Amino acid sequence: MSEQIRVVLDEKEMPRQWYNLNADFRRPVPPPVGPDGKPIGPEQLAPVFPMNLIEQEVSTERWIDIPDPVLEVLRIWRPSPLQRAVRLERALGTASKIFYKNEGVSPAGSHKPNTAIAQAYYNKIFGIKHLITETGAGQWGSAMAMSCKLMGLDCKVFMVRISFDQKPFRKMMMRTWGAECVASPSVETRAGREILAQDPDTPGSLAIAISEAIETAVTAKDTRYCLGSVLNHVMLHQTIIGLETKKQFEKIGLYPDVVIGCAGGGSNLAGMTFPFACDKIHGRNVRLVAVEPAACPSLTRGAYAYDSGDVAMMTPLMAMHTLGHAFVPQPIHAGGLRYHGMAPMVSHAVREGLMEATAIPQLECYQAAVLFAQTEGFIPAPETSHAIAQAIREAKQAQEEGKQKVIVMNWSGHGLMDLAGYQAYFDGKLTDYHLPDDELDKSLQCLKGLPKL
Ligand SMILES: *Cc1c(COP(=O)(O)O)cnc(C)c1O
Repeated sequence: MSEQIRVVLDEKEMPRQWYNLNADFRRPVPPPVGPDGKPIGPEQLAPVFPMNLIEQEVSTERWIDIPDPVLEVLRIWRPSPLQRAVRLERALGTASKIFYKNEGVSPAGSHKPNTAIAQAYYNKIFGIKHLITETGAGQWGSAMAMSCKLMGLDCKVFMVRISFDQKPFRKMMMRTWGAECVASPSVETRAGREILAQDPDTPGSLAIAISEAIETAVTAKDTRYCLGSVLNHVMLHQTIIGLETKKQFEKIGLYPDVVIGCAGGGSNLAGMTFPFACDKIHGRNVRLVAVEPAACPSLTRGAYAYDSGDVAMMTPLMAMHTLGHAFVPQPIHAGGLRYHGMAPMVSHAVREGLMEATAIPQLECYQAAVLFAQTEGFIPAPETSHAIAQAIREAKQAQEEGKQKVIVMNWSGHGLMDLAGYQAYFDGKLTDYHLPDDELDKSLQCLKGLPKL
């Protein structure tokens, strides 16, 4: 009983630099390219992002200073606690130790403000007045709404139609933080109008919303776009999670055997695992595991190819694991894990053998989430439940092998705004969905004619 279950860092121990895995990859990540297959220069991204963030996007510096005004806001909730899930361990009867890094303590309830604050700051000092973004389930939109308000910028959010209709509370959060929220596809953009003409009842998708947000950003004055995952600078800003976690393990004299994160676009996973990937590259024995939904399995079943980040193909082509930019996911409740692609850096880490990937069906995830809530108290986001389900699998397997492991997962966010998903689970309305091969093949057709890796 005397073992420490909540490892906290002092404010003064907060990391002052982000870690850039691009400095340590044995082979570099293939560069983003245009439709002609030629690498995209930084100046081509300038209408979309401010140059200071573009510099981070292409940087191979190992350590990048976190500006003081960003640290000052992050200190509202950081350093976040590393917690030992002793009651979950007891319920599982495992001799392994299970830890979770609690990113649910941020004001928006997830890891997303770690980069939202930084992006708002860099846009602000670049002279930008308005930020446009998109949101799936609403977590990114609400993180951005809060961050823009705290940094003194306007914010407009295109929200995927199905979430806009099903998740009124996230909308209200954005409004409370002073942002404008529009259902996507909308009639406000050319991309939105074209999709609506083809399919007026479309539930929308993240890829469609990205098209609308970029179109709006590049056509308005003093306006830029921001993205909550996938890009290198987002991975970079999230590394504060893993850097803190390493310090916290040092404090209690432990080091994890396995580090787990759920993966939508890959940012919380990267944030947690990349600082450990650095150790792994330098000879440390640690397993890093990405967990995605079986219904949207880009890392485990997608093609590794050049693909666009959005359906109207406004983004450069990125080398990533993808289901194809035209993929419209099933309406599973883990809204944040429904993206067709995966961050190029995460995809590359898997290709380089630094990281493993696995896919878990949603019923097992909800079961894990409910067990977690009933033992540890915190109610996880449906996305986070994928990491929990994998932590449980790891503990069970260690038990079968007669081993005691130190398992850590990133607890990416709470589920207090996602209770409708829990309701559907309790009512027996959720089923497992395995993406059929023929549907995957069909959706991958859209990669034909794109430059090859
Ligand atoms: C957005 C979100 C995710 C998925 O996004 P990543 O970029 O893959 O981290 C996971 N968990 C929570 C709580 C989220 O809000």
